[in-house]
Amino acid sequence: MDVYEPIMGAFPIAKKLWRKIIENKGLPSPDAVGKMLESIGLEKLFLGKGLGVFRNNFVIALLIPRENMIAVDFVSATGDLSDALELIAYYDREIDCYVVEIIPANELEYEENLGVEPVIIDAKTFELKSYPVLGEFKQGKKTIILKVDSETYKLWKESGKLNVCPVCGGELRWRGKRAVCTDCGIEVVVDEER
Ligand SMILES: [Zn+2]
Repeated sequence: MDVYEPIMGAFPIAKKLWRKIIENKGLPSPDAVGKMLESIGLEKLFLGKGLGVFRNNFVIALLIPRENMIAVDFVSATGDLSDALELIAYYDREIDCYVVEIIPANELEYEENLGVEPVIIDAKTFELKSYPVLGEFKQGKKTIILKVDSETYKLWKESGKLNVCPVCGGELRWRGKRAVCTDCGIEVVVDEER
């Protein structure tokens, strides 16, 4: 798995948080989220006093656990905030669901609307109530490739939104098991192996 940009870190962590919420029947501990960040290749620099700092050469992740909420900010290691993202996982009392969301840190200035569907999990049955399209990224020769597993693909197909880019909300053009976004240029590949 490659993590060269904030989004390349946020997607796989969102997916791991989703799995962990179902497994734990609740939000995971900050330590468990720290392990997730390490598992995608980020090095733990610090964890304690209500803050975790993780990084590789390209991306810095700040883990900020709050009351009933986990927030992870992904920032480019250059310090540039234009592609920074915040990943939040929380319990939403109004809808009695756990929610995992990826939002641009600077929502107002983000020109291309992020098309990331939130993960919504029923807090009683722990059934999924949305159609998130999450996966791991790989740096291709010319494009960034999002690998989605066949289970995710199945859900995605059910949602009827196969032509919508899971990253930017733009238009996806499919050719067999591959698709390219005509807006952000990302490539989506259905990974049969898992
Ligand atoms: Zn796109």
